Amino acid sequence: MSNVLIVEDEPAIAESLAFALRRDGFSVDIADTLAAANGKLAQADLVLLDLMLPDGSGFDLIQQARRSGAHPAIIVLSSRDEEADRVAALETGADDYVTKPFSPREMVARVRAVLRRAQPPDAPAVPRATGSTPPMALPISVDEVTRRASFDNRVLDLTRVEFDLLACLVTEPGRVFTRSQLIDQVWGDGFAITDRTVDSHVKGLRKKVVEAGGDPNLIETVRGVGYRIATSAASEGGRT
Ligand code: CA
Repeated sequence: MSNVLIVEDEPAIAESLAFALRRDGFSVDIADTLAAANGKLAQADLVLLDLMLPDGSGFDLIQQARRSGAHPAIIVLSSRDEEADRVAALETGADDYVTKPFSPREMVARVRAVLRRAQPPDAPAVPRATGSTPPMALPISVDEVTRRASFDNRVLDLTRVEFDLLACLVTEPGRVFTRSQLIDQVWGDGFAITDRTVDSHVKGLRKKVVEAGGDPNLIETVRGVGYRIATSAASEGGRT
């Protein structure tokens, strides 16, 4: 049974979410402050995280979780539909971002979808890649079973979405994936994901590749179309 930690200081919202999640078979903890959330983080599979809490910002909790080595999935709940918050949340490592008001039923569906993505299939029936390493001599390797990605043998600390994006892109280095193809592959049907959300996750992914010593153009933006993994062959063959 998956455990969902609701970090939310508005009791009515917390209770209605808890009710819907429990009815759907989840075990639920509620914390109304960052301090209370800290003690419950370790056992959480997924955190529903309000950004404005009495003792600080939800962003602090995301950072704290990452520092402690806990990697729960995180869905940010915000009362402000501000692009800056959305981008910041996704860059900090949240898996999804929802603006209040939302229906508890919608939230349960999102929780399920995020958890489904988070769990690697035991035996992938239809492997997306032909192997765990792309056929070309790319400095990137992606292992879908262990969900580890590395650049030049340095492990990349990716969020789930970043990992899934990278795993999709490396299936065919050089091929351009449109944003809607990436949304289909990474989020699946039924998600109202905007192109900008894709862009901000790619931005986060690219930053981590660069931090590991990679070329910022390794994940290449094809203007007006989408993204691709640049291959040396492709960049030599393509004119500038
Ligand atoms: Ca609040």
